Amino acid sequence: MDMSIPLVAEQRAAFRRGAVPAPRQVTDGVWSIPVPLTGSPLVSMTMYLVETAEGLVLIDAGYDDGPAWRALLAGLEAAGAAPSEVRTAVLTHNHPDHIGLADRLRREGGTAIAVHPLDCFAAQRSVRGGFLDQLERSLRIAGVPEAETEAMMRSARRVARHDESLVPDLLVTEGELPGGAGLEVLHTPGHTYGHVSLLDRGRRLLFTGDLVMPSGDTQLAPVSLEEDDPFRDLSASLRRIGDLAVDLVLPGHQYPIEDHARRTREAEAARGERLAEVERAARSAGTAWEVAALLTWPRPWADMRTTAKRFAVVQTLGHLRALQRGGSVPGSAHEASS
Ligand SMILES: [Zn+2]
Ligand SMILES: [Zn+2]
Repeated sequence: MDMSIPLVAEQRAAFRRGAVPAPRQVTDGVWSIPVPLTGSPLVSMTMYLVETAEGLVLIDAGYDDGPAWRALLAGLEAAGAAPSEVRTAVLTHNHPDHIGLADRLRREGGTAIAVHPLDCFAAQRSVRGGFLDQLERSLRIAGVPEAETEAMMRSARRVARHDESLVPDLLVTEGELPGGAGLEVLHTPGHTYGHVSLLDRGRRLLFTGDLVMPSGDTQLAPVSLEEDDPFRDLSASLRRIGDLAVDLVLPGHQYPIEDHARRTREAEAARGERLAEVERAARSAGTAWEVAALLTWPRPWADMRTTAKRFAVVQTLGHLRALQRGGSVPGSAHEASS
């Protein structure tokens, strides 16, 4: 798809200089709408507006603050659309940076909100608890010391400004998106348990939320239940999308991916190496918290800030859980009894 080239180059350049890209048409009937994530190292997240036979669909719904709302309105305007014309907002997953504006859009535009049942807050609360509950349980299983856990929870509460009483209008699992003919929902867990991607077969596009980025490892969902294995979930999801016949993958952060088959293969190879590193570290350390301190990170463990350590320890626990389930590290030796 020739049209994608300037878009990718522009958004890659913006990502590299830490800027929020301008809204832009991706191809006929599809617009990219980046919004700022003020104060976050991610800098921005990108929503996509897609014209379907049944009306406009918004994929993801930004972050709940004024700058993100204004960026959404500017993006809709660039696409020649009003909020009242957005028929459905489908949320790839229930993280604060992907759902924040959904309810405001519903109130002001009458937009229906769609999400996978496993990422629907009410259902999630009854199974594994809310966003912060899951995180806290994960930190306890990982054996994070009390004072560190408290600091991590304080930092998490600051970003988790989303409303967990959000009630969706539609639950979507697999198959055609109701109200968005031509868009197919694929359940692609790993980053969260109810994460979905959206496939536009006609345009050969795939919208992937936080499943895979052009660079870096995908953050795993917190392990909080006995059966949770987000590492294995993510592997299956990456394999699934790697095989799809699409020309462009449009993620929720960074910039679009042109060769998704190669990118998913490389991501899987890097994840395999990381798993081996975690396995080696696990031989000489106890809890996930202790294992995390032995791994290589972008900066030395001792210099890492609370938020970076929180992401790191959740990620390490996800790897250890996969190793335990695969039988290469024993039982729950690396999990603290909570
Ligand atoms: Zn996310
Ligand atoms: Zn995100």
